Order: sequence, then C-alpha cells, then structure tokens
Amino acid sequence: MPIAAYLDWNATAPLRPAAAQAMSAAMAILGNPSSVHAAGRAAKATLDAARDEVARLVGGDSSGVVFVSGGTEANNAVLRASGATAVLASAIEHTSVLDARDDIEILPVREDGMLDLGALRARLARGAERALVSVMLANNETGAIQPVAEIASLAHAAGARVHCDAVQAAGKIPVDMRALGVDYLTLSAHKLGGPAGIGAVVVAPGAPLDAWLRGGGQERGRRAGTENLIAAAGFGAAVREAVAGLGEMARVAEIRDRIERELLAAAPDALVFGAAGPRLPGTLCISMPGVAAQTQVMAFDLAGVAVSAGAACSSGKIKASHVLAAMGVDPQIAATAIRVSLGWGSVEADAERLITAWRGLSERLGASSAQSAVLAAAVAA
Ligand code: PLP
Repeated sequence: MPIAAYLDWNATAPLRPAAAQAMSAAMAILGNPSSVHAAGRAAKATLDAARDEVARLVGGDSSGVVFVSGGTEANNAVLRASGATAVLASAIEHTSVLDARDDIEILPVREDGMLDLGALRARLARGAERALVSVMLANNETGAIQPVAEIASLAHAAGARVHCDAVQAAGKIPVDMRALGVDYLTLSAHKLGGPAGIGAVVVAPGAPLDAWLRGGGQERGRRAGTENLIAAAGFGAAVREAVAGLGEMARVAEIRDRIERELLAAAPDALVFGAAGPRLPGTLCISMPGVAAQTQVMAFDLAGVAVSAGAACSSGKIKASHVLAAMGVDPQIAATAIRVSLGWGSVEADAERLITAWRGLSERLGASSAQSAVLAAAVAA
C-alpha cells in the first residue's frame, strides 16, 4: 500500500520544492568556495547566502554558523570540542548527546517531561565552572518544550555554558538564540524540509569551539573539508520557507489536537505523554492500551499510514524509549506508545486515515485482548 498519510515528520520531513530547486541550481556551480577566481567566488556567495539564512532562523550571527553533516555531528562537536570539563545533560536528550561522551552526568526530568529544575540547581550548586549544560528545546518523541531560557540563566550564574539541541524545534516554533541565552545551538536540515546530511552548530559570540576536523581552513578552521555547497543551498532555501511558514503551525496544531481527541474517544484508556506543558504543534505521543507499538506501526503501515513507535528507532530496530522511561512511564505502557508527527504539509485527510485505522485496530486488539497484552509484555522485556 503506498503511503497515503505520512505522519512521521519528526523522523524526517519531505524535501521542500524550493530546497530541491536551490540544490539543482547549486549543482551547476563550478567553483570551490575556497578558490579566489570568479567561479570560486560564485560558490562562496551561495554558501554565504545559506549561512545568512541559517543565522536568521535562530537570530544568530552568520560568523557563528558552522555547517556540519547533521544534528548528530553538531551535538558530538559541541560536547567534545567546546572544552567542557563536565557535561550535564537531561535524561531525554537524543542519543547523539547522551552517547557523545562517556562522562555525561544525567539530569532527571519530571513526569511531565520537563527538566527537574530543583535537581539542576542542586547539581550546579556543587560547582559547575567550565561545565556544559545540554538541554534540548523540544523533545523528538513527546514534543515537550523545555524552559531553556530559565535553564540557561541558572547555568550561566554557576559559570557553566549551555548547549541546546533545537533540531526538532526549528521550523516548528520560533527559535531565538539570544532570547534563549544559549552558547551553542544544534540544527538539522532534514527536519525542516532540507536535505539529510547537513546541519549546523550555531556558536554565540565568544563561546569556545575547537577544531574537530583538521586539515583545512574551512568553517573558520573548525571543520576542515570542502563544503557541501549543494546541501547548504538546499538547507538555506528550506530555512527561508520554514521561517515564512511558521504561521502555518497553528493549523497543524489543530489537526494534531483533533487526532488526539478522536484517538482518546476511541480508546479512553489511552495515555498521552508530554502534553501537560508546552508542546510542539505537530507532535503526539500516545499509547494504545494492550497493543504493542510495533503491531500498531505495522498495522497502520498496511493502511497506508506512516507513524513511528514511541521509541526512536535506528537501523529498523525499536528499543524501549529512554524518554518515556525517564518520565517514569511503566515499561509495559511505554511499549504501547506511538509517535504521530505532523508538519506544514499535513492535512485533515491524514488525520482521518489515522483515526480510522486506530479505531479499527483498537476495536480488534485493544486493551481487552489478552493476546495483545502478551505482545506488549514481550516488547517491554
Ligand atoms: N537531535 C534530535 C532531537 C533529533 O530528533 C535528531 C534526529 O532524529 C538528531 C538530533 C540527529 O539529527 P541528524 O539526523 O541530522 O543527525
């Protein structure tokens, strides 16, 4: 069955036509941005224009934008090359933060998915000079939006620097690096309609960041290697459209809210995670009691509806969600959670397909089915 309703935008968003066009135009550019001749200068102008767009997206300076291969590299670079002697990261960070170093100290989150500010204060009080606090702006599984500005002011008062993974937030809600008060920000193009394989670290003026790829002066000496001009052009064009289309997100939130209402009406025991506080407009993490997430993902796929298991999956393998575990969700319930994520192109018909498929599956296999309870338990094990 072809995909009739793509509801997995947090995994990757469709390439925006403007990004495809910009990449196609950039393919015709001959020069290397480092070359001094006219062809090189034309390439550099395209790269600089993309850098300006990315800076504008987050209210940063173009000089602080370092193009990288994506969110994963950006997170690794900041955690490993910013000179931090300790890293304090929230328990719900993406694995590219949590696995970037062996010495990460985990900060707990509350049941609502928000960072436990009391625990942060207590840890900072024990001394945090030259430490790095890493907290994402919006969570990829639940969409929960963290109080990053407050976290940053606490961290700075204790002498720590602050990194914010804004991969899921950018293009969905306004992101202003200065208002957030962060020293480093992570972005990824493919989450906002650009190509996969490019992203950026945005560094605030004065924040240290050493080279992590050596052997050339590109990206102000921090990341050597001829720049990916084609992808950068696509990233810049996607960012421009994302900024212009932020107003569209209110409509997306209405569709998400309708989905949430109707799924809860069909399965009143279903639980929604991360909805108590501020949340991304297009993200819904919800459990279907008694039905393993994999079963749901496969059944919905057969109905032409693409969603993810609540747990992020890599290489096609689904692991128990560390995000839901950190929020104290019972593992058996967490194993029944799926993530529904929408974006600028989502329409009511997508919602209808999912709602119909959900009703059918929950009637067939819902909480009363012993067989599906066994399935759920098997996943949690
Ligand atoms: N950070 C968050 C919050 C993400 O959701 C992702 C991707 O899912 C990443 C980082 C990694 O980004 P990329 O796929 O560009 O490496």
